[in-house]
Amino acid sequence: MLELVGLKKSFGSTKVLQDIQINIEEGCFYCLLGPSGCGKTTLLRCLAGLEKLDSGEMRHDGKELGPLPSHKRGLSLVFQNYALWPHLNLAENIVYGLRVQKQTEHQIEIKLKQLLQTYRLEGLEKRFPNELSGGQQQRVALARAMAIDPKIILMDEPLSNLDANLRKALRRELKEFHRQSGTTVIYVTHDQEEALALGDQIGLMLNGVLVASGKPESLYDRPPNLATAQFLGEMNCLSLGLEVEPRNSSSQQLGSLFTAIESGRSLCIRPEHLTLASAEKDFSVEKDFQQSVVLKGQIEAIEFLGSHSTYLVVSGAAKFQVRLNHKERNSQSHSQSIYSKIGDSVFLSLKLDQCHFYPEN
Ligand code: ATP
Repeated sequence: MLELVGLKKSFGSTKVLQDIQINIEEGCFYCLLGPSGCGKTTLLRCLAGLEKLDSGEMRHDGKELGPLPSHKRGLSLVFQNYALWPHLNLAENIVYGLRVQKQTEHQIEIKLKQLLQTYRLEGLEKRFPNELSGGQQQRVALARAMAIDPKIILMDEPLSNLDANLRKALRRELKEFHRQSGTTVIYVTHDQEEALALGDQIGLMLNGVLVASGKPESLYDRPPNLATAQFLGEMNCLSLGLEVEPRNSSSQQLGSLFTAIESGRSLCIRPEHLTLASAEKDFSVEKDFQQSVVLKGQIEAIEFLGSHSTYLVVSGAAKFQVRLNHKERNSQSHSQSIYSKIGDSVFLSLKLDQCHFYPEN
């Protein structure tokens, strides 16, 4: 178990880490997610011993890491720019750490063979980094990091220099390597899709503060606060002063919805949890219709995105993004006309159990 307790770090007057508290289980793939400049890299650098904390404790299996030099912390690092030695060939790059550890030639040979196989680098041993593709260089960086059997591996945006297809392919490989090795990984990224796909746990960092930490599914389905709701995945967030045009105003649900908003709370609902129809009566066939609120609106924009389309619907002063997949777009239960053009009047249905309410940040 890795325990980070009350970590603080400032550069001049900039507070970069503000009382960070995280517990990471052995073998966990922990994604540290946050926008550029929120302090993710600084946190990794402090863990690696490349930066000194102002205060706080970092313990691995109960042992304090702070007093230990970098090379005695049992950690490996993988950076965005791979940081391979340009003057060493692929094999020499991979075994570099083993030589530092003074392992025997026989041990090194066995380890190298195994790593070349695992990371699909056989036959490329003699090539220098500039003779390898970005994907191959990243695999070398991973193999090099894993060579010394680290207890924890720290990765700082390791896939961000690669093109989209390769990134997805390597993401799957990375997950598989992790599954096989069982090493604890702390993975820094600003890409939420990457964090959702890779992480056993995600820690969301904003302005040096860890605002949420948990399983991807639970952070996505039940964001614990407004900051998480706004940052993780697409979300409609409507705040105080909202004037929507309600339709089924007789319902009790509508009353509770507006009381919640008027009492200074934000309402958040995911685009995939809204339903569109050209006539109000179309909703009455829906399951749980009684638990829904129907609003009148107008289509302001339509984005066709292949597997789905996003509709921007205006209702009073509020704007909603509605996600419809192709099945819904072509479904018989919805009349074709509502999906046809900008400016059309539509009805929006919000299921109350899919709405989240938060105090303002
Ligand atoms: P990115 O995703 O862009 O790498 P990040 O979340 O990793 O961002 P950090 O690199 O940790 O963010 O930087 C956090 C803040 O600390 C930034 O405002 C940055 O300018 C500042 N910072 C980082 N290192 C130093 C330094 N050595 N001296 C002064 N300020 C620094």
